[in-house]
Amino acid sequence: MKRFIGLALIVILALSFMGCKRQSVADTGKTTVYTTIYPLYFMAKEIGGDRIDVTNIIPAGISAHEWEPGTRDMARLYEADLIIYIGLDLDSWILKTQSSDSNAIYCKASENIEPIKEEGNTVNPHVWLSPKNALIMADNVKKALVDVNQSDSAYFEANYNALRQRLEELDRQYSETLSNVPRKSFVVYHKAFSYMARDYGLEEITVIGLDDEQEPSLAQISRGIDYCKANGIKYIFAEPLVTSKPMQTIAAGAGAQILTLNPLDGLTEEEEKNGDDYISIMQENLKNLQKALE
Ligand SMILES: [Zn+2]
Repeated sequence: MKRFIGLALIVILALSFMGCKRQSVADTGKTTVYTTIYPLYFMAKEIGGDRIDVTNIIPAGISAHEWEPGTRDMARLYEADLIIYIGLDLDSWILKTQSSDSNAIYCKASENIEPIKEEGNTVNPHVWLSPKNALIMADNVKKALVDVNQSDSAYFEANYNALRQRLEELDRQYSETLSNVPRKSFVVYHKAFSYMARDYGLEEITVIGLDDEQEPSLAQISRGIDYCKANGIKYIFAEPLVTSKPMQTIAAGAGAQILTLNPLDGLTEEEEKNGDDYISIMQENLKNLQKALE
C-alpha cells in the first residue's frame, strides 16, 4: 500500500511538473534556460537570441569555486526547460535538481572535451579558457537548444554559425600570437589556464592548485619568488575575482610586475557595465599574455 501511494505521488508530481513546463513555454513563448557560469550564459544568449530567457545562476563578481546554491536558487531551477552546466566537479551541485521533480533537459557543456586529470582523482574544470574548447562547448549548447526547441532550430543554427566564426577567429588569434612568443611559461594564481596552455603550447606555473579559495602557504609564495627570479620573469598574473595579495608579495619579492588574466568564471559588475563579453575578455587575456611572454 505504501509503495502504491508512493508511486501515485510520483505520477501526480511528474504530471504536475510536465504541466508547469508546458505552461511556462506557452506563457512567454520562450524557452527558459539556466546556466551556471558566465561563459555558458554568453554562449546560450548568442545562440538562443530572443527565443530564450536565459539566467545565469552564479551572481556577478563571485568566483565559481566559492559559490554554493541556496534552497531558493535550487527552487528556481524547477521552471527550467534547459539547464547548461560545465560538469567536471565545478558545478555538480546542479545535478541534485535532476533526479526527482524537474523535467528539464541537462546539457553538460564539457562533453567531448578531453579532461585534464589532476592528482587525487580530480579533474580540472576550467575548459572554457581555451578557444578550441569553446568551439566544442558552443556546439554542445546549440545541440541542446535544438533538442529543447525544434521549431526554432534554423534560427539557432544561424546564430551558432555566427558565433562559431567569432570563436574560430579567436582561436586563430591565440594560435598565431602564442606560437610566435619567445617565452613559453607564465605564472598565475590557480590552475585556471591549464587547457589554454595545453592547446597552445605553453606551460602554466601556479602558486596554488585548482581551487582559488585555498590560501597559499609561505613555502608556495617563496617557491613562486624563486621561480620568477630563476627564469627572469618580468610579469606575473593576478585575477579579478580573488585577492591579488599573494601575487603582489611574489611580484615584490621577484622584482616583477602584475598583469591581469581573467579566469572568466564570472564577470565583475564593472565588466558587465562596460559591455565586456567572453570574446573581448579573452582578447584582453591574450594581449596581456603576449606582453608577459615577449
Ligand atoms: Zn578556477
